[in-house]
Amino acid sequence: MQTIDTFDFSGKKAIIRVDFNVPLNEQFEITDPTRINAAIPTIKKVLKEGGAAILMSHLGRPKEGPEDKFSLKHLLPYLSEVLETEVLFADDCIGFQARELASKLSPGQVLLLENLRFYKEETKGDEAFAKKLADLSDVYINDAFGTAHRAHASTAIIAQFFPNDKLFGYIMGNEIENINKVLVEPQRPLTAILGGAKVSGKIEIINNLIDKVDNLIIGGGMMFTFIKALGGKIGNSLIEDDLLETAFEAIEKAKEKNVNIYIPVDAVLADEFSNDANTSHANSYNIEDGWMGLDIGEKTIAKYKEVIANSSSILWNGPMGVFEMSNFEKGTKEIAYAVAQATQDNNSFTLIGGGDSVAAINKYELIDNVSYVSTGGGAMLEYIEGKELPGIKAIKE
Ligand code: AMP
Repeated sequence: MQTIDTFDFSGKKAIIRVDFNVPLNEQFEITDPTRINAAIPTIKKVLKEGGAAILMSHLGRPKEGPEDKFSLKHLLPYLSEVLETEVLFADDCIGFQARELASKLSPGQVLLLENLRFYKEETKGDEAFAKKLADLSDVYINDAFGTAHRAHASTAIIAQFFPNDKLFGYIMGNEIENINKVLVEPQRPLTAILGGAKVSGKIEIINNLIDKVDNLIIGGGMMFTFIKALGGKIGNSLIEDDLLETAFEAIEKAKEKNVNIYIPVDAVLADEFSNDANTSHANSYNIEDGWMGLDIGEKTIAKYKEVIANSSSILWNGPMGVFEMSNFEKGTKEIAYAVAQATQDNNSFTLIGGGDSVAAINKYELIDNVSYVSTGGGAMLEYIEGKELPGIKAIKE
């Protein structure tokens, strides 16, 4: 398979699926350019090797055709600045103007296409629409990991028109390489830390990880479904009664596979879901009615820190408690520091993924102290579940 580092771009036009779905304020200024910045190395590589770049992305969720607030033209000033070249713009991603601009592109030039989702054909994965995009260029690069779990026209369908000239960009390559470091032949012991509100969104991940990890640490609201499944009394804590059986089966499967599964032994309690609530602390298997567990307790934190310190690879997804509220953030904060410390002191490979654990790592300013923070969100979770992502498959096959 060709890679972005081996491909000869000279004189070629590369159409690059980027993820420029950045937040804009009311003046249409970019409030967080992280996603754009992440795509710059791939774009610059094409330009440096004598190619021209045609950039395509979605922005927001337009409902019926073009809407000014979702126009990618708002990104032009910033993009021209970071690429240090004037970026051209086609105000329709397909059609005459896009074809004209694309055909006249010289090496080193960059063309940005208007929002792909102004056409419903994009999310429908329409082949004719994908062909029109493909016809603009000689080579296809997918660098939008965040949409790799979607079989959209620009993320997967388009690849068939480039049987020998399709590549992963650097973001895609990095995400796959780093997630594989915990999923494929990891350094052991491998520990997965799973938290967040619900078991329902995570059960497939739990099942897939039980086949792979040495230790499985459970926290967050989902812990109470496990505790109740084991016969514990959980008061008014978050519960998914329809998943009690599933949680119990996961515990049984972990035992069968010799996976150490850690479930909190104590919890920080509140008498309502508020930072101003009265608080208490209890054995997590014996919570009185009228109280709910909103964080893991001290004994649990101490045990989890010990397991983390003795792990060579760590995957963390989901907070340990309601970390957005200062009275219930301690568990998440301590785990974040323990993961950072394992990275620094033991050279453990630590991967953080999923929106809220990334938010936690950012909140405690530890982003540079862990091995890799996945930007993928849903795509990363589906990858960990063991699913083949359409955006990856389309390039590989
Ligand atoms: P998720 O999107 O499933 O990863 O869930 C993240 C959310 O779970 C965060 O907003 C946390 O506030 C919330 N959460 C974590 N622990 C608890 C808990 N014990 N009870 C209720 N919500 C929780």
